[in-house]
Amino acid sequence: MHDRDTLHRFMFEHYPIRGHLVHLDASWRALVEHREYAEVIRNTLGEAAAASLLLAATIKFDGVLSLQLQGAGPIHLMLAQCTSGLGIRGLARYTDNVEHPGTFPTRVADLIGPGNLTVTLETDDGAQRYQGIVPITGERLAESLQIYFENSEQLPTRLWLHADAHGASGMLLQRLPGQFGVGAAGTDAAMPVDVAAIDDAWRRVQLIGATLTPAELHSLSDAEILRRLFNEDDVRLYEPSPVYFRCRCSRERVSGMLQGLGEKETRSVLAERGEVEVRCDFCNRAYVFDAVDVEQLFNPGVASDAGGSVH
Ligand SMILES: [Zn+2]
Repeated sequence: MHDRDTLHRFMFEHYPIRGHLVHLDASWRALVEHREYAEVIRNTLGEAAAASLLLAATIKFDGVLSLQLQGAGPIHLMLAQCTSGLGIRGLARYTDNVEHPGTFPTRVADLIGPGNLTVTLETDDGAQRYQGIVPITGERLAESLQIYFENSEQLPTRLWLHADAHGASGMLLQRLPGQFGVGAAGTDAAMPVDVAAIDDAWRRVQLIGATLTPAELHSLSDAEILRRLFNEDDVRLYEPSPVYFRCRCSRERVSGMLQGLGEKETRSVLAERGEVEVRCDFCNRAYVFDAVDVEQLFNPGVASDAGGSVH
């Protein structure tokens, strides 16, 4: 299977049920290439990355969606962030203080430990839209997300996630409000469907969705997945949107971070090492500040002359 980095929307023609399929291949490998994560951490991060894109696909917003797992377990922080333009980045911070070095629990509830899953939206105008917070539970990330959807009074939603060294994928099914299917392609006949029939269809598509194997999710094309699962239904597959790895770090952000850290602290690092190097946790890019840069950070007026001649 060649690389694909896509988010694909689909819609049941006769029921108010929609779905999304997401695949990260090259973007996933770019996301983890600088890190040597243990397999279980890497795979959980991949599931979180796929999940953040699926969540973003269901919400209309311009900004950044963060899916954060925080707890007292070996992984104390896992963060997947995607923009409304489908740029993705993520990281996991973990302790090596496990009983057997190099081994981590496989249940996500043990891996993150007692803690929470938080979904936050940060819109481009800087406002924060809090979405929801639920306890981390169960074997896999999808179970905590299930509770998130149930608790946050969102639309009934199910999702399936899978990640390995090569890629991360996910499928989401969501029942929309209302009683109308979208109508067959090319017609205006959005026919009302009775509620019992929608209930039945929603139950049925969830059961069928659960039969999708990780191997199928990873290797079949989206058209094949839908054919394999929902052959009995008319499902419309829309044009895919590209997904890509994108870090939002910048020299300006790092400068702001150093200014937040304070002049004394920054100068002491400078004195000790001759320069201040800050590496981005997400993409491993190094930002280096020499003496002139540090001067500029804390005394912009003075530093603008610093590179010039001495009077
Ligand atoms: Zn970065």
